[in-house]
Amino acid sequence: MAMHESSVSSRLRAHYRALVVWVNAVHAPDYLAAKAEDFRVFTRVALLITAVFLVFTIIWDYAIDPVNAGRAVWLRLTECAAALVWRAASWKHLHSATSRAATLIFPLVVSATFIAILGLLDNGPAYGVGGFLYFFIFVPFLVAGQPFSFAVLVLTVISIFPMAVAPLGLSAGLNWAVYNAYVWIGFAPIVAILVLCEYLYWRVFVYRGQVETLAVTDGLTGLANRRYFIVEGARILEGHKRGNRQASLLFIDIDRFKRINDTYGHAVGDAALRHVVETLEPFMRKSDLMARYGGEEFVVLLPDTTDNAAFSMADRMRVALRERPFNGVRAHDSQPLVLTISVGVASYRPEAGTPADIDLLIHAADHALYRAKNDGRDRVARTGTQGYPQPLESGRPHA
Ligand code: GH3
Ligand code: MG
Ligand code: MG
Repeated sequence: MAMHESSVSSRLRAHYRALVVWVNAVHAPDYLAAKAEDFRVFTRVALLITAVFLVFTIIWDYAIDPVNAGRAVWLRLTECAAALVWRAASWKHLHSATSRAATLIFPLVVSATFIAILGLLDNGPAYGVGGFLYFFIFVPFLVAGQPFSFAVLVLTVISIFPMAVAPLGLSAGLNWAVYNAYVWIGFAPIVAILVLCEYLYWRVFVYRGQVETLAVTDGLTGLANRRYFIVEGARILEGHKRGNRQASLLFIDIDRFKRINDTYGHAVGDAALRHVVETLEPFMRKSDLMARYGGEEFVVLLPDTTDNAAFSMADRMRVALRERPFNGVRAHDSQPLVLTISVGVASYRPEAGTPADIDLLIHAADHALYRAKNDGRDRVARTGTQGYPQPLESGRPHA
């Protein structure tokens, strides 16, 4: 029995902890930014439907009570005006301070005018309170785009508002039996809908993040893929062009890699690829961008790096790989395998008038790589100093 109790309470505690983690997750800045962006249209449509509904209620007022409808029109128009103010306040940023203030104040203005005018109508309590249904139909949609805790706060505030102003005599026109029924029966399902909305959007957010990561990642090495490199590289180069800064690019190709596959099989070839990446990655600074360009080819964009610095970095990478043989073929061969790379280096030099074009830069580095391969492999070659011409030199300064 005691054991059962403790397992129930520990499970409850685990659920509670999971809930806390989730509530924190749906208030993280990047989540809220995505939500504000994605719910903008949703909220606008909800607001539009609300406005259409208000116009219909004017017609409805005349139909059911022509005597009081004239006064009720002011109520509806006030609601429309409040909706427009809210629309203006959330024009660009759903989560801005003005937008949040409007999100809270709009339903309160509607509620206050509603309560006040019900008091003026002859038979307000009889039919008017049904209009409170308005809150419980539309407000959840209007607040769904807000941060979850704020949305619940707004719902709570508007629910207790008529009770809060009752001591001031402002709620005289309210049929409390009907109102309480709406609030206390309606509140829980509405919060449940909000939770469901939040949960579904959170799932979409998590999945989208996973898909976005997969779309830019190479599955074998975990490096960025070629697509990401081109897009991000172009962006980085554009920044260098504006700042008049030099950048360099390495094009790395493993030497005689086909032999490894042919001799030991593709699984060993894959492990060798990972070994190369593990060896070269520690050379990267935070701002460097390394990607798998193709099969056994890698590219590295080095921001704010001269061709001399890039050349010597490439050569240190070449030496490091030589000095760290690959052990993954033990089953076939007792000797660790020495892998080598050839590297082509090209630089973006704003002062030399080279175009800030990532494709051209890759092409130039590839050209230099071709020279390194032709000169015997296991070496670094670079393009000349005037833009992207023929490779000028290749060698092994650290041989
Ligand atoms: P070199 O570059 O020195 O001229 O010779 P190489 O043998 O490396 O020639 P090349 O670059 O043309 O060959 C690339 C080979 O890399 C061909 C293919 O078998 C192998 N390769 C490409 N992608 C993968 C991969 O994902 N896994 C494995 N195991 N091998 C791959
Ligand atoms: Mg190769
Ligand atoms: Mg190749």
